[in-house]
Amino acid sequence: MEYRELGRTGEKISTIGMGTWRMGTHGSPAERASQLGVLKRGIELGINLIDTAEIYASGRSEEIVGEATEKIRDEVFLATKVAPGHLRYDDVIKACHGSLQRLRTSYIDLYQVHWPDLSVPIKETMAAMEKLVADGSVRYVGVSNFSVKETEEAKASLAKNEIVSNQVYYSLTHRDVEADVLPYCERENVTLIAYSPLDRGSIVNSIPRAILRKYGMAQAQVMLNWVTRHDKVVAIPKAASVVHLEENAASVSARFDQAEYTQISEA
Ligand code: NAP
Repeated sequence: MEYRELGRTGEKISTIGMGTWRMGTHGSPAERASQLGVLKRGIELGINLIDTAEIYASGRSEEIVGEATEKIRDEVFLATKVAPGHLRYDDVIKACHGSLQRLRTSYIDLYQVHWPDLSVPIKETMAAMEKLVADGSVRYVGVSNFSVKETEEAKASLAKNEIVSNQVYYSLTHRDVEADVLPYCERENVTLIAYSPLDRGSIVNSIPRAILRKYGMAQAQVMLNWVTRHDKVVAIPKAASVVHLEENAASVSARFDQAEYTQISEA
């Protein structure tokens, strides 16, 4: 597994993380066991970044992550998110305590604001974030679905901490962030966490055959390798099957050359 520095924290997170949206949705014992198996296999393969959110499956995604990681807490880097309806000071504190309980941990590595809520001053949300860092409940503060302007405002609202990451939609076929968010992240040393990097399962079939053959990769693996071609980007694909998970973990075992990245971009 390849690892990258989170923001400028010195913390190493895996270039390929595990997304957990929809985990826990149905909640049958067999499904739960299979999801636990996928998470544990990912950790065995060196994936330490696991992304969840209080709203995923109404908290059951966090519960599965908590169950998978409780006994190996130091080996993983847990990222979760506070929902947009919980951005008032007291609500952030309460939401965080709920997440801690479901995640079976005393600290969240990366606590992210899931979406901006323009009706709540960002200063108020960030004040709660600083309190959570000060009391040891949270290690690093991040945002998600923030524009450059919103990220700057969040950053300016923090007295003692930095915004270390922005989690946004980024894939081979969804590249809006290349206009401004990605250059900003690279310039300011903010990690861009690419969500839906496999376009929610709409795997492209346009990757040049010569590249697939040369690297022995599947199209989905090329999508993940391509989206993480910049140092400040990590990706969090979601896999429900071990086969997909293993493919994803292996997707950055080699790097393409610049001409090949360009060919893939243009394909
Ligand atoms: P995604 O990771 O782009 O795609 C997931 C789909 O791709 C699933 O259907 C999965 O199938 C399939 N897949 C996974 N690996 C594959 C492989 N190697 N080959 C072929 N298909 C493969 O979509 P996502 O779940 O939307 O995004 C990933 C994560 O990002 C989420 O789980 C969540 O943690 C985060 N996210 C965050 C936000 C936000 O607002 N911050 C929004 C959306 C998502 P199987 O499940 O059958 O393996």
